[in-house]
Amino acid sequence: MAHASVDRFENGRRWTQEYDLELPPQSTVLDLLFEIQQRLDQTLSFRYSCRNWMCGSCGMLVNGRERLACRTRLVDLGARVVQIAPLRNLPVVKDLIVDLAPFFEKWNEVGVALPDQRKKPVPNSPKAQQQIDAHSDCITCGLCYSACDVLGHASDFLGPAALNRAYTLQIDARDVGHGARAATIAADGGVFRCHSMGQCTNVCPKGLDPLAAIAALKRGA
Ligand code: SF4
Repeated sequence: MAHASVDRFENGRRWTQEYDLELPPQSTVLDLLFEIQQRLDQTLSFRYSCRNWMCGSCGMLVNGRERLACRTRLVDLGARVVQIAPLRNLPVVKDLIVDLAPFFEKWNEVGVALPDQRKKPVPNSPKAQQQIDAHSDCITCGLCYSACDVLGHASDFLGPAALNRAYTLQIDARDVGHGARAATIAADGGVFRCHSMGQCTNVCPKGLDPLAAIAALKRGA
């Protein structure tokens, strides 16, 4: 028997709803949410897509930590009660669905700048390409954005995912936006807001290290 305690939000009203369910221990938190929605409460809203750790859609707080619901098995939580809440630092739309617009606005702020297609692109050195690859598997799930305590009180901070992305572009010889991006990186909402707590790296489901990317950008700035 599992007991789920789920944060609900609709039309400005917040409450916590409790559900008791029978589920195999290997079930994931996403299975649990489906079970609630299909058998107990059709009004519960959450976001998902691939169910395979690839799309980054089902990020949420599970027992106080940012996780992908499709990747989190009940047996691994080690608790009978599963507390589920929406990601932090983003406006809640309904129940477990957050508005990711602020996240993507910052992602776009450090955006890619393509070279003139008529010119031959400059290849990256193997070392630079290795660094780019090591930071390139972001699925834009927003877990690091939620876990970042700076964003809790400084909403203009670009945040770990955008800065991790900025790092991959700044060391990419093919990108032609280094100068403008360097100014964004060093501005008020940029890297120097980060105080290196490293929660971003701790929660990243793809094993990326935004903290290391930010440290490298700080050295470059
Ligand atoms: Fe998610 Fe990791 Fe990308 Fe942050 S850096 S958005 S935690 S995949």
